[in-house]
Amino acid sequence: MQNETPSSELTSAGPADFRPGIVPGPGKHKAGTLLDKYGRRITYIRLSITDRCDFRCTYCMAENMSFLPRREVMSLEECLRVAEVFVGLGVTKLRVTGGEPLVRKDAMWLIERLGALPGLENLVLTTNGSQLERFAVPLRAAGVKRINISLDSLNPERFRKITRIGELSKVLQGIQAARDAGFARTKLNAVMMRGVNDDEFVDLVRFAIDHELDISFIEEMPLGEIQGRRNTYISSEETRELLAGHFELLPSTENSGGPARYWRTPGSESRIGFISPHSHNFCDTCNRVRITAKGELYPCLGQNDAVNLLPILRADNDNAGVRQSIVDSMGIKPYGHDFTRQMDAPQVVRFMSMTGG
Ligand code: SAM
Ligand code: SF4
Repeated sequence: MQNETPSSELTSAGPADFRPGIVPGPGKHKAGTLLDKYGRRITYIRLSITDRCDFRCTYCMAENMSFLPRREVMSLEECLRVAEVFVGLGVTKLRVTGGEPLVRKDAMWLIERLGALPGLENLVLTTNGSQLERFAVPLRAAGVKRINISLDSLNPERFRKITRIGELSKVLQGIQAARDAGFARTKLNAVMMRGVNDDEFVDLVRFAIDHELDISFIEEMPLGEIQGRRNTYISSEETRELLAGHFELLPSTENSGGPARYWRTPGSESRIGFISPHSHNFCDTCNRVRITAKGELYPCLGQNDAVNLLPILRADNDNAGVRQSIVDSMGIKPYGHDFTRQMDAPQVVRFMSMTGG
């Protein structure tokens, strides 16, 4: 591999063949875009706009979560500045997430401005669906292209157990609202948990097909201190075999720009996907970084290295320092994660609600 980035703005070269930073071009990668030391272009950010949520999903949060004080959370203006800097560095896709993004007061103020950012081609959102009845129409008007909605169970009591406080009917109304607002390719996300929802995978796929939705099954990740994960973990392969007994599954080369691998079933437009951080590690093609609600830039979901952008944002009005820190962060993006080693004693102490899914 050739070294493409002999730029003055770069951090020191990593052990791999590429020098991390910005691509000066011309070369294999587009000039001006972010490049890590393994030659991966970073064109996608996941921006968490709150650590708070109106649910307490058992795999995502502890029962008694304490949330961040307001001053430690990025203001919506700061979120917008971070997004603007990333877009200026060639990022074309941004996922708004959380916590539950739609419980953040004035979330629409930010989303409308993100939707109007020149160069941002793909604004998408991950939500638990509870607030979609209210927000689906304004989200679409703001330019959100696609929505992912978490749905682990179609049984109201079980749904309540998994989310601790969530109401299934609100989420189902939210899904309908997204369809009515004209969102296409809305995707359900279901975390696979043995003995919790594994008897519903077939029903969840049928629901997706009947409602013209895509669906992804997610292998549970060991984020935050939650006991008993080893007992509930199910691999994508096991679920795919189970589903193959009920649906004809044709492998698809389609890609939604994320880590899911997809299958199709004849007679339906729905895609059935698997996000497999354990069994089919997607690090090779990783094109994204995450920003927490606290303004920390995590180059990898499964590692603890981060750059704290918040003090830089607050000290710097013209964004130059923020831009340089983002460029420098390319030097600490690791090759990948290893979630499988210790399911009950996670190496990553952050909850997913903190990092942003
Ligand atoms: N509140 C929104 C939601 O639930 O969709 C957005 C944030 S949530 C953290 C994003 C995604 O992360 C959800 O699909 C959720 O199921 C997933 N998630 C949370 N904790 C997880 C874990 N430990 N393993 C795998 N997926 C997880
Ligand atoms: Fe909230 Fe989403 Fe985490 Fe569930 S998965 S607790 S809905 S942030």
